[in-house]
Amino acid sequence: MDRQAFARTMRVLESRYPIRDWARGMTPFEILISTVLSQSTTVANERRGLEDLRARIGVITPRRVADTPEADITAAIWHAGLGRQKAPRIRRIAMEILERHGGRLEEVLALPTDRARAELMALPGVGPKTADVVLSMAGDHPTFPVDTHIARIARRWNLSRRGDYESIRSALERWTPPQKRKAWHLAIIAHGRSLCKARNPRCDECPVRQDCDWYRQHRAHGKRISRRNLRSPTKG
Ligand code: SF4
Repeated sequence: MDRQAFARTMRVLESRYPIRDWARGMTPFEILISTVLSQSTTVANERRGLEDLRARIGVITPRRVADTPEADITAAIWHAGLGRQKAPRIRRIAMEILERHGGRLEEVLALPTDRARAELMALPGVGPKTADVVLSMAGDHPTFPVDTHIARIARRWNLSRRGDYESIRSALERWTPPQKRKAWHLAIIAHGRSLCKARNPRCDECPVRQDCDWYRQHRAHGKRISRRNLRSPTKG
């Protein structure tokens, strides 16, 4: 897919999937915790974990999380899975934000994008994807977070020769105007959930198939789909 085809495709997807901002009404710290909870689980289970944590400690702030015993956090986030790994990580993040930023993640988000990204990635267990989600969803920074749906679709569209996180992110950012990155990030995820699924993508219903490399190579000529072609290159 070339740049023109990508822009055409994204215009179609943007109108098909109007923006649904899951982070609306949440504080930056809640968005960060929600993103940590979302690792290796479904949206529904992540939401349950967040709601249960809120029910257990009240408003989710760095101070309250740091003051809550780890075992209580583990029990509260049970629905989100991997509680024994996520609870200590969440607590360490809260303590670090208290120590380094006085409990105010907003101060980090007020920095220029590169510096804010570096500060977020200095927090324990925060990798590039989590940092980019927080920058985009909590701070309106022009990053293009790459989750598992976006990585798979970028591969099907041949957007990047390499399949690692940074290569896909920079390919998407190169072709996406800064003011469109959040909307297009959400639109591609919505497309991955509804039609361009990991297994059995619903290409016959897809409104962008005429520009899709994967469709041209595998469906338009009636070829069978191999396991390799269904594989996603990176983890979300
Ligand atoms: S044509 Fe198929 S593989 Fe291509 S974007 Fe649409 S659903 Fe995904």
